[in-house]
Amino acid sequence: MSESIAKTEAHIFKTYGRFPIAFVRGEGAWLWDEGGRRYLDFLSGIAVCNLGHCHPAVVRAATDQLERLVHVSNFFYTAPQAELAEQLTRHSFADRVFFCNSGAEANEAALKLARRWGNAADSGPRSEVITMQASFHGRTFATLAATAQAKVQEGFAPLMPGFVYVPFNDFEALQASVNARTCAVMLEPIQGEGGVNVPDAEYLKRVRGLCDTEGLLLIFDEVQVGMGRTGKLFAHEHFGVTPDIMTLAKALGGGLPLGAMLASQRVAGLFTPGSHASTFGGNPVVTAAGCAVMRELLDGGVLENCRAMGIYLRDKLDGLKTRHPETVVCVRGKGLILGMELTGSGRPVVERCLEAGLILNCTAERTIRFLPPLIITRDQIDECCTILEAALGQQE
Ligand SMILES: *Cc1c(COP(=O)(O)O)cnc(C)c1O
Repeated sequence: MSESIAKTEAHIFKTYGRFPIAFVRGEGAWLWDEGGRRYLDFLSGIAVCNLGHCHPAVVRAATDQLERLVHVSNFFYTAPQAELAEQLTRHSFADRVFFCNSGAEANEAALKLARRWGNAADSGPRSEVITMQASFHGRTFATLAATAQAKVQEGFAPLMPGFVYVPFNDFEALQASVNARTCAVMLEPIQGEGGVNVPDAEYLKRVRGLCDTEGLLLIFDEVQVGMGRTGKLFAHEHFGVTPDIMTLAKALGGGLPLGAMLASQRVAGLFTPGSHASTFGGNPVVTAAGCAVMRELLDGGVLENCRAMGIYLRDKLDGLKTRHPETVVCVRGKGLILGMELTGSGRPVVERCLEAGLILNCTAERTIRFLPPLIITRDQIDECCTILEAALGQQE
């Protein structure tokens, strides 16, 4: 066993089920382990390295900034933070950005803002947030309560109060659960951890309409599906709907820890000096990397490649479904977040692929999830599908 694995097993909390591989280098869609073995990465650090590993523009932006100024307090201003906020607001519905360090923190900020808004409402105080079954919003106490999955919440009672859960993509259930205390509806436009669940075309529009009628805030958690993953900068753009609040993290910092909560002006005004804060939030190094990510996504042809390769991969996966009807139930997703639901556990398939040099992931027990970098090529998709088909074959 390698020294890294031995030390990790000896000294780090056992909160992760890890594969016995330690990585030392990455480039594009490739990773190398300690023994020099190369792997094709269709996980991208769970939708983090959307531009591939060590994208030169991201590395250059971060290292240039590291050499000039690493950190100052948010009592002062820095150019990279200002620049990224301007880019994010210019390319979204939002007027203002709050920077933090992770997806859970971005959702915490969104929930605090929603409470602040609901408690100040003329029809208030309103403090309840409706979230969706099989959602994932993070592991902190508030986001854990927002995450309607028993396995994630197990053993952490009492949970933070103020959350109501309804089935995803069920408008009537949502409508029926609204009451005088409801202040917001929070959901992922496409559920990631819940098994790559894409709602019906009209669902999000109806949710938006309900929020408008009932005076509720609509919060989109785009931590996983934002930043180009679906072939548009933000997933909700596919559905012709805008939220009041949106959260981002994962791919925003190009591999560095960066989260953001964005809101339109009518909501953003509820946060005033002292309402919320983060020591590292918007740190110059990570926001410099974020600016490079935005430039590459918007100017580098990355979204176009994501859309084209998303269709190519999906067609190939549909082909696998046709050839393996006993093993594959269906294929779903958008752009380069795709899920292949199997009739049995996905874990053995993931393990066989890893042995053959392909990194995939299984979510919601039976769904193989594909999250390649958005710069993936046809040849790499062909290689993925060849390995996957052999692994599926062994399953039968
Ligand atoms: C990963 C994820 C989070 C949590 O992000 P962390 O950075 O791990 O806190 C929240 N929401 C969604 C949709 C995610 O996929």
